[in-house]
Amino acid sequence: MKILVINCGSSSLKYQLIDMANENVLAKGLCERIGIDGSKLTHKPAGKDVLEKTEEMPDHQVAVRLVLDALQDPTYGVISNVNEISAVGHRVLHAGKYYSDSIVVNEDVKRVVRSCFDLGPLHNPANLIGIEACEAAMPGIPNVAVFDTAFHQTMPEKAYMYAIPYEYYEKYDIRRYGFHGTSHRFVSKRTIEFGNLNPDNSKVIVCHLGNGGSISAVVNGKCVDTSMGLTPLEGLIMGTRSGDLDPAVVQYIANKEGKNVNEVVDILNKKSGILGVSGVSSDFRDVQKAQKEGNHRADIAIAAFVYRVAKYIGSYAAAMNGVDAITFTAGVGENDAGIRREICSYLGYLGVTLNEEKNKIRGEEVEISGADSKVKVYIIPTNEELAIARETKDLI
Ligand code: AMP
Repeated sequence: MKILVINCGSSSLKYQLIDMANENVLAKGLCERIGIDGSKLTHKPAGKDVLEKTEEMPDHQVAVRLVLDALQDPTYGVISNVNEISAVGHRVLHAGKYYSDSIVVNEDVKRVVRSCFDLGPLHNPANLIGIEACEAAMPGIPNVAVFDTAFHQTMPEKAYMYAIPYEYYEKYDIRRYGFHGTSHRFVSKRTIEFGNLNPDNSKVIVCHLGNGGSISAVVNGKCVDTSMGLTPLEGLIMGTRSGDLDPAVVQYIANKEGKNVNEVVDILNKKSGILGVSGVSSDFRDVQKAQKEGNHRADIAIAAFVYRVAKYIGSYAAAMNGVDAITFTAGVGENDAGIRREICSYLGYLGVTLNEEKNKIRGEEVEISGADSKVKVYIIPTNEELAIARETKDLI
C-alpha cells in the first residue's frame, strides 16, 4: 500500500510517497512559491536523480498536478499510475473543538476545516485547497485529514480555558487548542513503547523543540496540557515567535510605534523569539555561533529559551504530580546536545541525571539519562509524515 502525504502551506506544498509495506519513502519533494512568480518543484525520488522544475504554479491545484506528474515521470517517477496510491493523508492545522482524531474526508469534514479558517488563517485555507485538489486529480482515492490540534483535545477544561469573560469562549470558541499534535502523539507513544513504560500508568513530558516549539504533558498516552494555545504563538520562546508574554505588551508597542494590533501580533509571530532577542537569526545554529563569539544578545536568547523550557517542564511535572520520562524531539531537541544538557541542568530537583556519552548520540532513539536518574530522559526522532501515513493507513 502506497500513501501520499501532503502538507500545504499558504504558498508551499510538501509531499512524501511512502510504501507502507516497509515504511520506505519512495519519493519526497516540495513545491515553493505557489501563486508567486518563480514557482519551483523539487522532486527527490529514492535512488534516482533529483528533478528541479521551474514552472508556473498559480494555485495548489496546479501544484498537485505537477507532483502527480513527477511521481509518474518516465525518468524521475516511482509509480506508473496514480491508482497505485491507496490514499492521501493531509496535514491540517486546525480542527477547533470538533475532532480529536484523524478522519476520512467527506463534506462535513471540509465544512469543519472551513469553519476553522479564522483560527488558522494561513494554513486551513491552503489545507482545504490541497484536499480539494487531490479530490479533483484523483477521484475515488480517499483523503484523510490529520489535524495538528487533535491530540490535545483530551486536555481538561481547567487546562484549556483562558481566564477571560466566558462569553468569548461561548461565542467564538476562544480557548487553548495546542499544535504539533501529530508529533506529540507519535513521540509520546514511542516513548512509552521504547521506554517500556506502563501505558496505563505513565507520565511523559514531550519537548518538541524546533523552529516552532511546544511541550506537552501526557498521562497514560493522553494529552493533559500543552504549551501552545489558541494559536501557535503561546508558550515557549521559538525561532521567531515570542511565546508567553503579558498581553499588555501588544497595546504598549501599538501605542508607542503607531501600529495596529494585527501588525504587532505579526511582529510577535515573525520577528520575535530568538531572532528578535539575538538580532542574529531564527536558526539556533547561527545564534549559538554568535554566542560562542561573545555576542551577549545571542547568549541571552539561548539562555532565555532554555530557562522557559525548564520552567514548562517543572510546571508539567507539578500538573501531573510527577513525571516518569522526559523526551526531546524535533530539530533542536534531536540534534543539540548542549541545549539538552542545559535544560537538564535545571532538573536536578526531579532527580534527573544525564549520561554525557549517550547525550552525544544523534538520529536514533536513545535513553540519555544516567543510570541513577529518577526520571528517564530520551531522544525520540519525530517523523510527522510517517505518523500521518500510519494514521491514514489505519483509517482506510
Ligand atoms: P525543525 O523546525 O524541527 O526543522 O528545527 C529547526 C531548528 O533545528 C533550527 O533552528 C536549527 O538550527 C535546529 N537544528 C537543526 N539541526 C541542528 C543541529 N545539527 N544542531 C543544532 N541545531 C540544529
